[in-house]
Order: sequence, then C-alpha cells, then structure tokens
Amino acid sequence: MNKPKIAIVGGGWAGLAAAVELCQHGHQVSLFESAPQLGGRARSVTWNNMTLDNGQHLMLGAYQQMLQCLTTLHADTDKLFKRLPYRMLMLDAQTGQTAFDLQLPTYPAPLHLLFGIFNTPSLSFKEKITLLIRFNQCLNSPIKDDLSVTDWLQSANLPLTYTKNCLEPVCLAALTTHPHQASAKAFQRVLQQTFSGPAHFTDLLIPTADLSQIYPNLAKQFILKNGGDIQTRSKVQQLHIENNRIQSIVVNDQTLTFDQVILATPASITHKLLDPIPLLQPLVKQINQLKYEPVTTLYLQFKQATPLPYPMLGIVNGLSEWVFERSISGNNDVLAVVISARGKHCQIPEAQLVETIYTELSTIIPNLSPLLTSKLITDKRATFQCHPNIDSLRPCTETMVSNLKLCGDYVYIEEKKQAGLPSTLEGALHSGVKCAQSIIRPTLI
Ligand SMILES: Cc1cc2nc3c(=O)[nH]c(=O)nc-3n(C[C@H](O)[C@H](O)[C@H](O)COP(=O)(O)OP(=O)(O)OC[C@H]3O[C@@H](n4cnc5c(N)ncnc54)[C@H](O)[C@@H]3O)c2cc1C
Repeated sequence: MNKPKIAIVGGGWAGLAAAVELCQHGHQVSLFESAPQLGGRARSVTWNNMTLDNGQHLMLGAYQQMLQCLTTLHADTDKLFKRLPYRMLMLDAQTGQTAFDLQLPTYPAPLHLLFGIFNTPSLSFKEKITLLIRFNQCLNSPIKDDLSVTDWLQSANLPLTYTKNCLEPVCLAALTTHPHQASAKAFQRVLQQTFSGPAHFTDLLIPTADLSQIYPNLAKQFILKNGGDIQTRSKVQQLHIENNRIQSIVVNDQTLTFDQVILATPASITHKLLDPIPLLQPLVKQINQLKYEPVTTLYLQFKQATPLPYPMLGIVNGLSEWVFERSISGNNDVLAVVISARGKHCQIPEAQLVETIYTELSTIIPNLSPLLTSKLITDKRATFQCHPNIDSLRPCTETMVSNLKLCGDYVYIEEKKQAGLPSTLEGALHSGVKCAQSIIRPTLI
C-alpha cells in the first residue's frame, strides 16, 4: 500500500525534525519553507563577511531530544558543541565584582550539586545548607496551582543572593519571561530536566558552528537522501478544507494535494492560516491568546580577540544579561550580548544601547579592546510568553481536522502530567518528532 503524501509547512527545527522522522520511516514528504533558507528562528545570518546566528543560542546537556535528533543524522555532537561544565559566573555590571559563582564539578549526580554548592564562594556556610535542603524541595515538591516564579522562589525561602543573582536571571533566559510574569511550573520543569538527571545534563553546550550547520543543513541532507522534497521560497498561502479534511494547499499561487498536512509554522502564522476555517475557530481563538516576547542579540566586533573569564558570563544590574565568546563558533573578535524579553533596552536608540553595553562590558572585562562595529538583531516574537497556566492556551498536535496536525515550539506535548517545555529548540524538536510519530505509529501497527 502506498504511504500517504505528507506536506510539512515550515522548515524551522520542528518542521525539519518531523520531516526527518517521517522520511526515516519511508513516508513521502514535501517540506515548504517561505524563507530562502531553512532554520526559522534558529538560523545563520551573514554580517561583515562573517556567518553569525539570527540570535545567540545556548543548549544544555539536558537537551536529550536534540542530541537524539542529531544522532539520527549521524552527526558528531562532540564536534558540533563545546561542552562546558556548568558554571554560572554572574558579574555586576556596575562594579565589575562577582555577584554569584556556582561551578559544578564533573562528579556523578547528585555529588556534582553537593560539591558545587559547598564550594561556591558566594554563600555562607549556613546559606549553603539552606540551599541544599530547599533547592531539593523546590525540585521535588509538585506545584498544585501555578504561580509566578517570583512568588514560588519567595515561598521556597532560598538564599536571597542565589535567587536574585542566579535563579532569576536563569529563569529569564530559559523562559524568555520576567520571573514576576513567568510560570513556576514551567521553570520547575526546566530545573528538574537539568538537575534531576545525570550530571552531564547540566553541561552547557555552545555551538561550535553557526546554527544552520548545527541542525538545518544536516537535516536537509538527510531528508533529500531519503526521498523527501524541500522547497524554499515557497509560501503556503491557504489551506482548502472540505468534509473535515484538508483537500489541498496553495503554495506560491499553485494548488497542490496531499493526504496529510503538518503545520510547522510559528503560532502567529498558524493562526492566520487557520483563521478562515470555521471548524477551527476555537483553536484559532486559543492560539490568538498567546503573547510573545522578544530576544535581542547585540554582536560586538572588537579590534582584537576578546577572551572572557568564562565563555559564557551572566551580567546583573545592567542592561546586558549574558555575554558569549563567539570564538567558539569561529569569530575570535566577536562577543554576543543577549537580552531576553521586553525591558528598558527596547526604549533605547541603538547607538545609546551599544554605548551602554560597551560600558558595562568594560566594567566586567579588564582592558576591553576598542569596538570596531556592532550589529543589533531583535526578534520581536522570539518565543511565547511563558506565564502561569500557559499550557491551557497551547494547542496539541491533533486538530479537529482529521488530516491536519500541528508542531512547533508552542505546541503542548502532554507527558506524565508535566508542564510543557518552554519555547526552545528542545521543545521545537520534541514536538516535531512527536507529531511525526503520531502519523507513523498507525502504519507501524
Ligand atoms: C533570538 C533567539 C534566541 C533564542 N535562544 C534560544 C536558546 O538559547 N536556546 C533555545 O533552546 N532556544 C532559543 N530560542 C528559541 C528557538 O529558536 C525556537 O524555539 C525554535 O527555533 C522554534 O522552532 P520552530 O520550528 O518551532 O519555529 P520556527 O523556527 O519559527 O519555524 C517556522 C518556519 O515556518 C516558516 N514559515 C512561516 N510561514 C510560512 C508559510 N506560510 N509557508 C511556509 N513556511 C512558513 C518560517 O519561515 C520558519 O522557517 C531562541 C529564539 C530566538 C529568536
């Protein structure tokens, strides 16, 4: 029996993961991407003859779905990432002093946490004991009614310096949502995923190449080699529905027919494509309630190479939040400064923002080289806002239309009654794989 013809709309990491999984199981896949290149919100861009990313990304050892997806592509993950032992070195933008420093040794779990906390110079002995006991409670006590991360951390009574100078900045980075607006359940899942597994789950994985080379290009090769078809610059404009089925899709003004359609577009585009379909109005309303947060990356190119005390630093008390050495990805004289979610920086003209950030970096990095040039990239809808009870607004893979499925970082994958993954590469890949498996499974049985 012929396998169904499947259209995947969107060539971000979720759509690509779905395509890889389906091709691997012999399905006929056509992927349509409106942009000239694959990768969506995690792709390469060129600037000053350099290949950079549309935004600096950080992955973790806990990104098991990502590592699994790369293994499927026979990728050498040791080459694709620089694996750094977990270290949160947080510096104060006003004084240049260390605000917090937590470094985990490479001991098996949970000894890595135990020794890491005991060796941190940032806490008193009493605070270390408190943190060990209460952090464990935080990880393991189920949250019945979702609340903000600020309220949750306050009720957990962790040492204030750890909360303010480490956990809250990590929450902002992981959920792209300010702690007072962020979901405690989602943050607890991130912490559990990172700290409750084997010790290497806490590793920081910094891409050694631009993002397109990390996954999209490898996925493309795999899909094409396994009989799939990929068309870039191919915008899906419309879905035609009849008798509760998608009968055809319109791509660049051409009508094409498929047995099954996967929408792997960002939530805001999914909303537009589904809006004309009366049957899907409840879903459209649901997606419409999602709010979005920006991520700003400021690339700074210096006269000389600019090594940092650690390849990734956290910055508190300033506009900058994290700074990454781009030397790991091949650009020795470039640093990437990341600012997540809406904030003061959104109101500041670019030249002033660059000046402020350069001043902050000069405070924390002695003898910072003169700045040559800079490039500011803001993705206004980088992620959905991960507020309390967010999962009730996130759609699932299945829709009311029998041959239409959804995947993407905003799609909720129900697992063991856990909170959904936040808007991350791991979440995008996981939803893509799960969506594909929901098509593969019936044919395997
Ligand atoms: C600046 C920035 C920094 C980030 N940092 C991190 C990080 O450090 N760690 C982390 O894990 N995650 C991070 N994220 C989040 C992560 O990048 C996203 O969660 C992930 O890339 C989403 O993938 P996706 O496939 O779900 O969606 P997308 O990447 O948005 O893919 C959807 C694709 O659909 C295409 N499309 C849209 N409309 C159409 C149409 N009509 N027809 C055909 N194609 C269409 C789009 O062009 C796009 O390629 C960051 C995101 C940004 C923007």
